[in-house]
Amino acid sequence: MPFLAHTSLFRTGLLAAAVCATAALASASGDPPHWGYDTLASPAQWAGIAPACAGPQQSPIDLWSSDIKHGARSALESDYQDTRFEVINNGHTLQATPQPGGAKTITLDGETFTLAQFHVHTPSEHHVDGKAHDMELHLVHTSASGKVAVVAVFFDVGKPNNALGELFDRTTAELSQPGERIRLYAPINPARLLPDHSRVVHYTGSLTTPPCTEGVLWNIEMEPQTLSRQQLDALRSVFPHNARPIQSFNKRTLIDEPAAP
Ligand SMILES: [Zn+2]
Repeated sequence: MPFLAHTSLFRTGLLAAAVCATAALASASGDPPHWGYDTLASPAQWAGIAPACAGPQQSPIDLWSSDIKHGARSALESDYQDTRFEVINNGHTLQATPQPGGAKTITLDGETFTLAQFHVHTPSEHHVDGKAHDMELHLVHTSASGKVAVVAVFFDVGKPNNALGELFDRTTAELSQPGERIRLYAPINPARLLPDHSRVVHYTGSLTTPPCTEGVLWNIEMEPQTLSRQQLDALRSVFPHNARPIQSFNKRTLIDEPAAP
């Protein structure tokens, strides 16, 4: 059984409560982005825009094996459905938003979170034992009470990724400029973006983009997925580098949820 067991839960009302959980929308309205990774306001200057970016529990972090504690935790469960997505180049990343009315949730410690969007970073933002992966995908969810939970998936170059195939096939021609958006023809089931059997490391951190809000529940899938060199190159042709540097660990708790058998 995959660690993300599908449940019979099917909630239709929560998507309406989904809010945009990152600030990476600056250019959705046509405004120029006011922060960046290598130009504009670089990460070292973000606190001047958003004071929380200098907070004590920021993300991403380096996940050192020696810091990970094995704890009993209720398993992360998902209830993802095939869904059509709209993808926008928001000036900072490619961000995919599910069509209204779909039902895509995770359950974490008994609380339900609805998928608001997913987006990608290259190279990975989180590191594992000092090393980055080629790409990191963030599935951003919100609860009815306004909490944010992110499921992060690492990718390394290898076999092509089928679930993201259409997105990367169309990136260079249709998503190269900020503000460009497309509707994907083929539905994506977010469950296909996740590894089948993976340890998950949980910790509390922040959004990795301004406003860097803390209190984000991070769920890091430790087993990397693959994408082809061509797919990674398509992303990097538009965003050569959109990863925030590693932040101070500050003795936070990393809890390991073992992979389901
Ligand atoms: Zn992100």
